Amino acid sequence: MNSQAPILIVGAGQAGVQIAESLRQEGFGGELLLIGEEPHPPYQRPPLSKKWLADGGSGSAVSLAIRGAEALARRRIELKLDARVAAVDRRAGELTFSNGERLRYGKLAFATGSLPRILPVPGAMLEGVLYLRGIADSRAIAEAIRRCAADQQRVVVIGGGFIGLEVAAGARKLGAEVTVIEGLERLMSRVTAQVVSEAFERVHRAHGVEFVFDAQVVELSGRGGRVELVRTADGREFPAGCVVVGIGVAPDDRIAAEAGVACDRGIIVDECSRTSDPVIAAAGDCTARRLPDGRLQRLESVQNAVEQGKSAAAALMGRSRPFHATPWFWSDQYDVKLQMAGLSHGYDQVVTRGDLHKPAFSAFYFRAGRLVAVDSLNRISDHMLAKRLLDHDLSPTVEQVTNPDFDLHGLVKQSA
Ligand code: FAD
Repeated sequence: MNSQAPILIVGAGQAGVQIAESLRQEGFGGELLLIGEEPHPPYQRPPLSKKWLADGGSGSAVSLAIRGAEALARRRIELKLDARVAAVDRRAGELTFSNGERLRYGKLAFATGSLPRILPVPGAMLEGVLYLRGIADSRAIAEAIRRCAADQQRVVVIGGGFIGLEVAAGARKLGAEVTVIEGLERLMSRVTAQVVSEAFERVHRAHGVEFVFDAQVVELSGRGGRVELVRTADGREFPAGCVVVGIGVAPDDRIAAEAGVACDRGIIVDECSRTSDPVIAAAGDCTARRLPDGRLQRLESVQNAVEQGKSAAAALMGRSRPFHATPWFWSDQYDVKLQMAGLSHGYDQVVTRGDLHKPAFSAFYFRAGRLVAVDSLNRISDHMLAKRLLDHDLSPTVEQVTNPDFDLHGLVKQSA
């Protein structure tokens, strides 16, 4: 395949724009088209549940742009917006858009992102039940929160994960009363230790948020098609002016799967972002990455989209650029910044350093005596240190971490 044949990228988000720019950096000189179904040039999603929402969701879309249309044009990256790819014919090397238009490709990248999981209960699509993925969603949620604040109605958030908690913090800032309903026994329980969950619960409670734990939502109901009540399995009812659902996302692998590209809850890629089709790469939230031990790993983060995007561009140029960097992530809730380095699942010991109650501390996760992850709350230098330790496969001992006088930074310096 001629590497200068047109490359088409489906999905103009974080991963899509990275693939396009990295292709130019890798020396691709041919036609490059970035296709997005949304009306906006590529934009950052993280602020949509954080500052942008807490400021009322009325900021300009331009302030969220990853790269404006002009900057892309300078790199000869053509943007085709408001255009949904409906199908891929791999034998013909052709895309079909939802309006029937067709385009030929030489090589292709999927960067189609993910979609919010829909609450699987009656009433999940009533008016006033809101899901957060894009700019329009964040605007609608801010508007609904403001209405609740004005009418003294509660915002009910379903899901005590990152999105739910960030929305709860934004809603408090916008003046609404908030109830968070969580199915498990503590906040962010799939990704953090109890000590971190408890710190965030204290912070939210101090800001007036109410929590309901171990509660399964079984029905949303209302009048005139508009949500008014959230019912849980134990028979409790929670009046709601609006409901924001944050129960996770599912990879959007629909067109790839329909085209016969190997998928398993995500487009399966290797460490170089190559799919089962040699002329197709994929990056970002839409992928499931095959690990050396055969397991599939899904990460939904800006870092993953960027790094996989670079690998995908290299792969489309016939090069190998595996990505092994330590995963990192962040969340902002009120004035607490949570920064996470590494993946903590499977940990068997967690110890802390710092002040739990401020909060300004880090939780260090160990597996079989080795450091695997660190969550830092308002401890930016710990986070930077954690990334360096994990990047270099350096592990302090539990005793070193818990000794406030031990210089953990010294471990990195010694190894340099
Ligand atoms: P997206 O950015 O979702 O882009 C995919 C694009 O493809 C979308 O615009 C979609 O409309 C388009 N598309 C899909 N199918 C088609 C089609 N058939 N035709 C045309 N276009 C199509 N990550 C962090 O690291 N830190 C955070 O704090 C953080 N906060 C977040 C807060 C919110 C509210 C959200 C929604 C996400 C957050 N994330 C955060 C996750 C992060 O934004 C994503 O991991 C990242 O955007 C993934 O990039 P992507 O390019 O894979 O997907």
